[in-house]
Amino acid sequence: MDFYGHVIDGEEVPSADGAEFDSIDPYRREPWARVALGSAADVDRAVRAARRAFDEGPWPRMGLAERGAVLHRLAGLLERNAEEMGLSDTRDMGKPITQSRDNDVFRAAANLRFFADHARLSTAETLPMDSGHHAYTRFEPAGVVAAIAPWNYPLMLATWKVAPALAWGNTVVLKPAEDSPVSATKLARLALEAGMPPGVLNVVHGRGPDSAGQALTEHPGIDRITFTGASSTGRVIARAAAANLVPVSLELGGKGANVVFADADLANAVEWSIKAVYTNTGQVCLAGSRIYVQRPIYEEFLARFVAAAEAMVIGDPCDAATQIGPLASEQHYRKVRGYVETVESAGGKILTGGLGDGWTVRPTVVVDMPQTAPHCTEEIFGPLVVISPFDTEQEAVELANNTRYGLNAMVFTENLHRAHRVSARLRAGTVWVNCFFIRDLRAPFGGVGDSGVGREGGSFSREFFTEPKAVIIDVKRD
Ligand code: NDP
Repeated sequence: MDFYGHVIDGEEVPSADGAEFDSIDPYRREPWARVALGSAADVDRAVRAARRAFDEGPWPRMGLAERGAVLHRLAGLLERNAEEMGLSDTRDMGKPITQSRDNDVFRAAANLRFFADHARLSTAETLPMDSGHHAYTRFEPAGVVAAIAPWNYPLMLATWKVAPALAWGNTVVLKPAEDSPVSATKLARLALEAGMPPGVLNVVHGRGPDSAGQALTEHPGIDRITFTGASSTGRVIARAAAANLVPVSLELGGKGANVVFADADLANAVEWSIKAVYTNTGQVCLAGSRIYVQRPIYEEFLARFVAAAEAMVIGDPCDAATQIGPLASEQHYRKVRGYVETVESAGGKILTGGLGDGWTVRPTVVVDMPQTAPHCTEEIFGPLVVISPFDTEQEAVELANNTRYGLNAMVFTENLHRAHRVSARLRAGTVWVNCFFIRDLRAPFGGVGDSGVGREGGSFSREFFTEPKAVIIDVKRD
């Protein structure tokens, strides 16, 4: 079995105390990689390296074009190694290979390219003052960034954090999730190959609570924390950030509502609704896990949706035909299984799906579920959707907004006025109309309520990963 170390100060190293853990392939349910298990001592080494690279190294002082060229080279290396990078995530957490290799790796590369170019092409406001003074803004790098990534999009979400942080001249300590560690070490190896100076991108593996993750967020040498994961973890991390007065960006859970009006293009609505809840086996914060369908088309929608769900190919995620793999870990499988097993006692009915082999849950469709049931209020993070009917636009908006989450929502309608009207009333960070998952990296991304704090993307990432500085110059008059 191959070993994957921490990457600290340009070297791949074991843990200071020699501790290791197995990364488990959730389809084969056996270890497939050995990984360094970090502790506070390893985090401290990494933060010190990142601090040295920030205070003394070339990275923050480099021109934007030169820094951008390194990020573009790294993107190219990811693309050239797509097979290996995709397979790492697939073996670590069971994502179908067509999603990891053909989508996530290229999205990761696009993140690096986009933020390199966005930083290089950014302009800053200049304010000629009536007094004759001249004020302008500089975007100084913030310092050492702690990036804590989840296991559902290991490489893609790591780069979503790392790319803007690095493009703006920060140095980074990345802690991937213990369920999906391998692609992070490979990313850091490729960064060195691309010419990134030592200490600029460091990776420390390890657990979250009482371990490497907690040590990183509590470390006094950190200047920014960016986190994606569970809302409950977000609260813990926000407290750590508050103690050190460190700005924090939190991308947390979701309970996406997907509202299908009777005038929708039904084939389009079914196709996107299936993707919205079953992509990555439902392990997506944006998952459209509550579908509300207007009553005149409810039965027709259900029939088409169930047929499409039953046609999905379940199996070995390394097989290109597979659309639904296992859940990412035994622990997560047990959580999702709990929701499947309690559908009936909570008042609902399973139309199709249920438990599969190993740690697999089949695409599951639930109806007749009371809106107060945990299945309608909690983030399940698996391939289970609750479909409910509604009558009026007002009722649809109320149902969609009846959640403590507010990451995203979807609206399917051919009525332009309704599309605008409902989009404006939905309490969510992103609303998709007649589509799903389409992103422009310049647009804000984040959630309201329990779905997060802050926005990332384009100039929103610039605000977070820099310290905007006002420079005011006295211009002498004749
Ligand atoms: P977590 O929020 O616990 O994990 C996300 C990341 O945070 C991991 O890298 C984890 O490390 C780390 N972490 C955990 N606790 C701490 C801490 N106290 N300090 C610093 N870092 C910490 O998610 P889980 O893996 O436990 O998943 C539970 C649920 O969270 C899922 O079922 C899903 O509902 C939701 N989730 C949402 C995601 C999203 O995209 N919004 C992504 C992942 C999960 P480690 O895993 O190594 O312990």
